[in-house]
Amino acid sequence: MYWNDLGSHLKAVYGTKVYKLSLSSGCTCPNRDGTLGDRGCIFCDGAGAFAAAGDIRRQLAAARERVAVKAGPNARYIAYFQSFTNTYGPVDRLRQLYAAALEPEEVAALSIATRPDCLGPEVLAMLAELREKKPVWVELGLQTIHPASAAYIRRGYALPVFDRAAAELRAIGVTVVVHQILGLPGEDREMMMETARYIGHSGAEGIKFHLLHVLRGTDLAADWQAGRVALPDLEGYISLLEDCVRSIPREMVIHRLTGDGAKRDLLAPLWSGDKKRVLNAIHAAFLRDDVEQGSAFR
Ligand code: SF4
Repeated sequence: MYWNDLGSHLKAVYGTKVYKLSLSSGCTCPNRDGTLGDRGCIFCDGAGAFAAAGDIRRQLAAARERVAVKAGPNARYIAYFQSFTNTYGPVDRLRQLYAAALEPEEVAALSIATRPDCLGPEVLAMLAELREKKPVWVELGLQTIHPASAAYIRRGYALPVFDRAAAELRAIGVTVVVHQILGLPGEDREMMMETARYIGHSGAEGIKFHLLHVLRGTDLAADWQAGRVALPDLEGYISLLEDCVRSIPREMVIHRLTGDGAKRDLLAPLWSGDKKRVLNAIHAAFLRDDVEQGSAFR
C-alpha cells in the first residue's frame, strides 16, 4: 500500500509540521461578478461570502491564533488564499499583499487558488517575482476533462486554457495543484480515471480529490432535489477514489482525499460531513485493498 499524502510530503521537506493559514485576498470571481456568469459554478455557494482583504499582518496573526493549540514553536506555515479567484484583481495590490504574506520567516510558502483563465502575463510576472522569494503553489479547479461535465458545472473555460496555464506556471517554477471532483453526473468510473491520468500528465505536482457534494442555495441543490443527481455512498466513493489514486503518477502529492464543505449548508451526501470518519474509512480501505498510487498510470 502506498500513497503520497501532503502531510508526509511537507514533513519530509521541512522536517516539521506545516500548517495552512487561511487568508483572504479580497478578490471576487469572474464566474460570479457577471464577467463570465453571475451564478458561479453549479456546486459553488460562494463559500464564506466575499471577505475584504484587511491588513495582512492582522490576518496572519488571527490565522495563527486559530491553529495555536496544535502548532508548536517550531511549526512552519503556508499562507493560503483559498476562496474565490485570487489572481482576479489589480496586480499591484495583489503583489503587495502576497509579498507581505510571505514576509514572516515562519511562512514557508504561498498557496493561492485561482482559475486558469485568470493568469495573464502580468499575473505570471508577479508570481515569478514571488517565486524568487519562496515557493509558490497555484491551485487550479479543473474538476473534469470531459466537455459535457464542464458545461454542466458551468466551469467557464475550455481544456486548452488549463493546459496552457499549467505549462506557463511550470515554466516559471510555480507548483501546480489541480482539483478533481469525483461523482459528477454523467461520468462513469473510466471517465474519472481519465481525468486523473490527464492531470497526472499535465505537469502538476499535486492533486486534490473532492466528492461532489450538494450545498444549500446552489443550483446543484435544485437538480439534486429534482432527482437529477445521484451521489455515491461512502463505499462507492472510496472505490472511485482508489481507482483515481492508482491512475496518477506515484510521485504526485495528494493534497486532499475528500471534500471539506461547510457542514451547516451540506444537503447531501450527509455521510460526507463526518470528515474524520470518512478519512478513517478511506485509510482502512486503502490498507484492505492494498492501493498503490501510480499502478494504473500510463
Ligand atoms: S468554484 Fe471558484 S471559479 Fe467557480 S464560481 Fe466558485 S469561486 Fe468562482
